[in-house]
Amino acid sequence: MAVFKRFQLKVWGIAAIMALSLMVQACAPQLSPQSSCNFVMSNEAQRVSWGAEAPVILYVDSSVPSEFFGAIQAGVNTWNQSLGREVLKIGGWSTAYPTERQDGVNVIYFKRDWPEASKDKQAVTTIHWAGDRIFEADISVNGNPSHYVYFWGPEPIPRRVDFESLLLHELGHVLGLDHSEVEVAGTVMAKKLMDTTTRRQPVAADVDNLRCEY
Ligand SMILES: [Zn+2]
Repeated sequence: MAVFKRFQLKVWGIAAIMALSLMVQACAPQLSPQSSCNFVMSNEAQRVSWGAEAPVILYVDSSVPSEFFGAIQAGVNTWNQSLGREVLKIGGWSTAYPTERQDGVNVIYFKRDWPEASKDKQAVTTIHWAGDRIFEADISVNGNPSHYVYFWGPEPIPRRVDFESLLLHELGHVLGLDHSEVEVAGTVMAKKLMDTTTRRQPVAADVDNLRCEY
C-alpha cells in the first residue's frame, strides 16, 4: 500500500515578521476559535487559507514531465469548477525557481532524486502562512522511478499511481485543506492513494469544506 504523502507544515520562515505579528496580536482582540472545515489551523484556532488572495497562481517547474501538464491543469480545473470560481491558476512553465525554498512563488516540482528515507511519500506540499493567510505553497512530487511510477490517461496502468488524483489531493493542501480527520467515503483528502486508483472528483464534503473559505 502506498502511503499518500505527508503534509509538511512549516509554521514559519521569517522570524522578524513573526515577532512583528506577535506584537500586533498582543494588543489585538481575542479571535474566536473557528471550526476547522478540515483546514489546517493556526495557533489562534483560525483556518489558514488564501482568502481574498485567491486565485493562487502556480508555476510548473521544468522538472515536471510534459506528459503530466494536462493532469495538473485537469486538477486545477476540477477544483475551480467544483467551487464555481477560479481559486487556482497555472502561471506557466518555469526554470526560474529550481528549489522549493521559500521565495514567494508557488511551484510544482518533480524530484527524481527523492531520498530513500522518505520513499513511502508520493508527494509533499509545503505551505507558509502568517496569521491565518497562506502566502506560499510548493508541491514536490516523488519522481524517483524506483519509488513510484505514474500514469495519466483514461485507463489505469498496473503498479502505477494516477498523477491527476495525486495532484488534485496536493492542490487541496495548497488551498489549506488538511487530511480528512473522519472517514468520508471517496474524499480526495484521504491520506492514502493506492496504485491504479483514480480519485479525480472531490466529494460534496470536500467542496463544502473549501466553501468555508472560498
Ligand atoms: Zn496529503
